[in-house]
Amino acid sequence: MSFTTPPRPLDVTALIPQLAPLARKATRLHPRPGSPSLHDSSVGGPLLWPADEPWPHCEGPHDSSAASGVTHSPDDIRLLRRIRAAAAEQRLRDPEAPTITPEELETEKELSMGRPWFDGPIPMLPVAQLYTRDVPLPSSPPGADLLQVLWCPFDHSAAHPRTALFWRSSVTVTDFLDAPPEPPVIQEGWYLPEPCLLAPEQITEYPNPTELSKELQDQLGDASRWETAGSGGATNCCVIRQ
Ligand SMILES: [Zn+2]
Repeated sequence: MSFTTPPRPLDVTALIPQLAPLARKATRLHPRPGSPSLHDSSVGGPLLWPADEPWPHCEGPHDSSAASGVTHSPDDIRLLRRIRAAAAEQRLRDPEAPTITPEELETEKELSMGRPWFDGPIPMLPVAQLYTRDVPLPSSPPGADLLQVLWCPFDHSAAHPRTALFWRSSVTVTDFLDAPPEPPVIQEGWYLPEPCLLAPEQITEYPNPTELSKELQDQLGDASRWETAGSGGATNCCVIRQ
């Protein structure tokens, strides 16, 4: 698997010159499993958070009747992930071996019962922190070199998670929070990011075809333009647009 963007098989602006002025710089984050520190850019890693600043909470509303599955604590989810990762590794080492031990099966069974719903304010979860030395963020406020993103691990009426963004000057954070609060329960496991370090890559990208004029959409849809061009691969990755 390629972890960087392969060379483009063609110059799209040579085929469709009207796209050239629409080019923009973006950064693919390329999250990779690791153990990020407070001083790393990360997804799902610890945030460089001032000890004297309140941790953000979401006041909801959180609707238990709309929840589709059982809720787990963050530690439940981490335990489930460890068990499943160990089972997958065991299958790789020995296809004949049992994929899961009785103890692991019992743990999965216990956790499948879920945790009681929680109605109070929910501590938000770290999603990402990006240092501008790693990820250029031209919209950063003067003096800020760090963007922190958190979200609420419960569904809301909007189609996307409820987020909170904070800009900081990292040098001003000399006394940081060691153990931020965690939500007692999470509505869906995917709200808890796996800690990842980043391997940022600068790329050039163009607007989504649906953002283009009808004329440009027609040109892009003209298969004859692409007949000899082949197809370009792209990695699945988080992208920060500038
Ligand atoms: Zn919420």
